Amino acid sequence: MSTKDFIEKDYYAALGVAKDASAAEIKKAYRALARNLHPDKNPNNAGAEAKFKEVSEAYDVLSDVKRRAEYDEARRLFGSGGFRPGGFGGTGGGGPGQTFDVNDLFGAAGGGGGAGAGGLGDLFGGLFGGGMGGGTQTRTRPARGRDVETEATLSFDEAVRGVTVPLRMQSPGTCRNCFGTGAKPGTSPRTCPTCHGAGVTTRNQGSFAFSEPCRDCRGSGTVVDDPCPECRGSGVTSQTRTITVRIPPGVKDGQRIRLAGKGSPGQRGAPAGDLYVVVHVGGHDLFTRSGNNLALTVPISYTEAALGTAVRVPTLDGAVTLKVPAGTASGQTFRIRGKGVPAVKQSGDLMVTVEVAVPKQLSEEARSALQAYADAAAEDPRPMITEAVRSRG
Ligand SMILES: [Zn+2]
Ligand SMILES: [Zn+2]
Repeated sequence: MSTKDFIEKDYYAALGVAKDASAAEIKKAYRALARNLHPDKNPNNAGAEAKFKEVSEAYDVLSDVKRRAEYDEARRLFGSGGFRPGGFGGTGGGGPGQTFDVNDLFGAAGGGGGAGAGGLGDLFGGLFGGGMGGGTQTRTRPARGRDVETEATLSFDEAVRGVTVPLRMQSPGTCRNCFGTGAKPGTSPRTCPTCHGAGVTTRNQGSFAFSEPCRDCRGSGTVVDDPCPECRGSGVTSQTRTITVRIPPGVKDGQRIRLAGKGSPGQRGAPAGDLYVVVHVGGHDLFTRSGNNLALTVPISYTEAALGTAVRVPTLDGAVTLKVPAGTASGQTFRIRGKGVPAVKQSGDLMVTVEVAVPKQLSEEARSALQAYADAAAEDPRPMITEAVRSRG
């Protein structure tokens, strides 16, 4: 439904109710009409079907406090049915008294701030799309939702594989106690006496007329005598919502992920803000992580290092065989390609560092075998040190 619909269609007439009809009256009128016009009751009756649609559309708008207010505002600003998009500017609209200076109104709304600016911008945004207004228009678009930042703590595996997490967030939303009207339930906002509900006041200064948002109602067109206790009249409260967010695989500790459009909802259908999630990633008892590479330390025995061996080493989701060649030094690192953190472009590698483990205690049999080995291995493991000591006398 566009602003054009708002201006051209008389929803009150469609439901046969007065402009100041209460919500109960609107509902009653709609029910009676809907019963009579329902397609089940009127098969193959195109006239009834069209009327049924019209009535439903009218009820959709008028039963929603916020949309009804928008509709009323649109009709107030543009008159009922007298205005046709395209007649603007050039021919001066429907007649005397309906010629506005668009830019004047834009300027006033933009400078005024507050809720009224969003309302006017919304109206004009709907009318003109992207075509008119040029630079002025961007200022008066309804506000995009705020960006929101939150935190998520993930386990090592969740961070590596990606995970779907529920996030609880506080953000402003329409007050559920007063449905955004700002008035205490049972009461309703009354038309602002200063601007007579237009939300805009016009001031004459010499030969110029200035339009600006009404100061008394801040452009809303209504004033609240008995404010809603939940939102203190603002119509907006802080609300907790839980959203489910898919964290992509491969996030790093401390990384800030942007989830477009998951922030606060925008005003009146404007785009939502973005959600930023700062992730905290827990440790792993085997692996340490550096970017997309994983590191693992694997102890091997002296004989394994000296003779060579094949060791089964764990990966994130299984195990692989690492060939340790004969004569491997303690501290040597082997790269196992593609067994690190999975990534879209290029998965990380698993870096395995072998460390020669020296037994703290030896059995009698092992000791004598080692002694026999020591006697047999005549090779000096530290010739440079031996030489240095010798040269010092
Ligand atoms: Zn409220
Ligand atoms: Zn006012």
